[in-house]
Amino acid sequence: MTGTLYIVATPIGNLGDMSPRAIEILGSVDLIAAEDTRHSRPLLQHFAINTPLIAYHEHNEQEQAARLIEQVKAGKSIALISDAGTPLINDPGYRIVAAAHAHEIKVVPIPGPSAVIAALSVSGLPTDRFVYEGYLPSKTTARIKQLQAMLPETRTMVFYESPHRIEATLEDMQTVFGGWRQIALAREMTKQYEQIAYGAVQDISDQIKNGTIKIKGEFVIVVKGAEVQASDDNEVMRIMQLLSEKLSTKDAAALTAQITGRKKNLLVTGGGKNVYPEEVENEIMNSQ
Ligand code: SAM
Repeated sequence: MTGTLYIVATPIGNLGDMSPRAIEILGSVDLIAAEDTRHSRPLLQHFAINTPLIAYHEHNEQEQAARLIEQVKAGKSIALISDAGTPLINDPGYRIVAAAHAHEIKVVPIPGPSAVIAALSVSGLPTDRFVYEGYLPSKTTARIKQLQAMLPETRTMVFYESPHRIEATLEDMQTVFGGWRQIALAREMTKQYEQIAYGAVQDISDQIKNGTIKIKGEFVIVVKGAEVQASDDNEVMRIMQLLSEKLSTKDAAALTAQITGRKKNLLVTGGGKNVYPEEVENEIMNSQ
């Protein structure tokens, strides 16, 4: 009899968010594959779970997935957990789930906390459609290029960010999206120093600079999508998006304006100004 692979969500800070079903499954499987066994041991001890632990992380994912799949095929049930939240959401696990499907092994989700959903739920921004972008690149040039490619995005966008880069990323968002773009910044959700800030990106950026929001802990940035201008904007945005993949935002906007007869600044900013510092624009142009 083949075993089952369980994908189990664990808290993102508050142990009270551990679900009874997660506790039951983690206590009953043969093996728990954890991103960092040292990190997960205290969590499991807290809930009196004594199931053996094995490491499954980005550096051993390929070999470990193959080994664990053999064990499940031999009849063992395995639960995968990450350091916090839902496995596979910017955490290891994709390979073992794909391999399980390839071997016709049953994969069962044990849902629970995830920072992306928690941040969206309090953002006050439209949640009917959203895109999850994970972490932006760490280098400024690459980060700005990626943000520029997202300029025509009309859905709400969600980004994870580390405390080392939160200040720079908010500055880049201000540069690319314009300072008036609405965002929500969620820090240390479910923990003692939880802070949720809403407003224009320039105001939130100022609050980071003046210390109102501490640069400590974990962050999620939720960004409102671009404003749609008129009924034909979907087509205009589609052209803009396609051209943005190959051209700088400025050139893509100019060409889209030529093709569609729309005003260039309306296309990319939802009516406001869009100013790039000259050195940033040069750097981006030179890197293309
Ligand atoms: N698998 C996790 C999930 O389901 O959200 C995400 C893991 S990812 C490696 C870690 C990132 O998630 C952090 O850098 C931060 O951006 C976000 N995050 C995790 N916990 C958070 C919390 N309590 N408050 C704010 N952001 C959090």
